Amino acid sequence: MDHFLYRDGQLMAEDVAVTDIAAAVGTPFYAYSSATLLRHFKLFDDALAGTDHLVCFAMKSCSNIAVLKLLGDAGAGMDVVSGGEYLRAKAAGVSGDKIVFSGIGKTRDEMRIALEGGIRQFNVESEPEMQVLSDVAVSLGMVAPITVRVNPDVDAKTHAKISTGKKEDKFGIPISRAREVYATAAKLPGLKVIGIDVHIGSQLTELEPFRLAYRKVAELTETLRADGHEITRLDLGGGLGIPYARDNNAPPLPLEYGALIKEEVGHLGCEIEIEPGRLISGNAGILVADVIYVKEGEGRKFLILDAAMNDLIRPAMYEAHHDIIPVQEPAPGEDQTEYDIVGPVCESGDTFAKGRNMPTLKAGELVAFRSAGAYGAVMSSEYNSRPLIPEVLVHGDQFAVIRRRPTFDEMINRDTIPEWL
Ligand SMILES: *Cc1c(COP(=O)(O)O)cnc(C)c1O
Repeated sequence: MDHFLYRDGQLMAEDVAVTDIAAAVGTPFYAYSSATLLRHFKLFDDALAGTDHLVCFAMKSCSNIAVLKLLGDAGAGMDVVSGGEYLRAKAAGVSGDKIVFSGIGKTRDEMRIALEGGIRQFNVESEPEMQVLSDVAVSLGMVAPITVRVNPDVDAKTHAKISTGKKEDKFGIPISRAREVYATAAKLPGLKVIGIDVHIGSQLTELEPFRLAYRKVAELTETLRADGHEITRLDLGGGLGIPYARDNNAPPLPLEYGALIKEEVGHLGCEIEIEPGRLISGNAGILVADVIYVKEGEGRKFLILDAAMNDLIRPAMYEAHHDIIPVQEPAPGEDQTEYDIVGPVCESGDTFAKGRNMPTLKAGELVAFRSAGAYGAVMSSEYNSRPLIPEVLVHGDQFAVIRRRPTFDEMINRDTIPEWL
């Protein structure tokens, strides 16, 4: 469920007409619903009620500091994957003891930033990283709390580019080597082992892969405890999928996912962390674009938008589907036209949808991409020298620009011409 619905023939974002936002900020732009963001966070928080837990928002899915502040104030922790994300979380007022640092390539600088600013734990992904983290912590006179990310060799049955828990994926250490790796970690002076981390992929639409992975984590918890490690925290990752197409079967709900977690690891007495990203932010955002031209091709019609692959890369990168709807509600039984929906960028990959049936549209009309809140704005670029587009946060009948559109000069003046030219 989300808060982007038609009312009186107009697409609304909560109680704001999308056309009003477009008039104020121009197109294209992203708009997020605070009610949807909070609702989705609360679904996870409630699903783990009765356990000692922290829901850490995977902020790589949507990292505007206004979004982070909204979720942080509601009690969310943050899962960060870079020094930049760590500093964004801090800038949003999230305290270090609610920030978890994931990722396979943390640099010394990033480790130092997080240790100095305060950190809940590092999720360490390799032995060389362990050694470096221990060195950095010792150099600061500190001890870094860690979990080790294990790779359970489970097929998440999702798109290959977002599967992370099979043995051929680059993430974590093979679960078969875990005892040896934990023994090494326990000997390092700058580390304190506190738990186990697992994350098997993104956009999972079934619970079974989670069950298999968490069962392996539960077994490993007992084994490591028998080896003398204090395992008090389990970070179970993110990855629960969302319905991208209205008419598809909906993926499992957070409540069912929470029940599964309690079944598989509830008996261990560990503190539970989860790191959902997409399910919190995905359906909380839309991308609004203007139809620039309707072009007649040979046997097909192109809807050419002012948004492009640089603004939303998911269709080009993952063959992802987004429902695209007119901002003016179509009348019941209105004519449909089959369109290829494309952006202006000079790449054939700049195609959002092929052969999509849509109510007939004219130049100057607005469309909205649904489910664009996750891995949308955060993955955007300035390819073709198209400035990053604005982000807007809606709250009831109010909205605010939370990242403004830069001017062309601001974009161009980041480049410099050397003196000798
Ligand atoms: C990307 C990622 C997540 C979030 O995945 P979603 O599919 O957005 O829920 C969580 N944890 C880690 C370590 C990640 O890399």
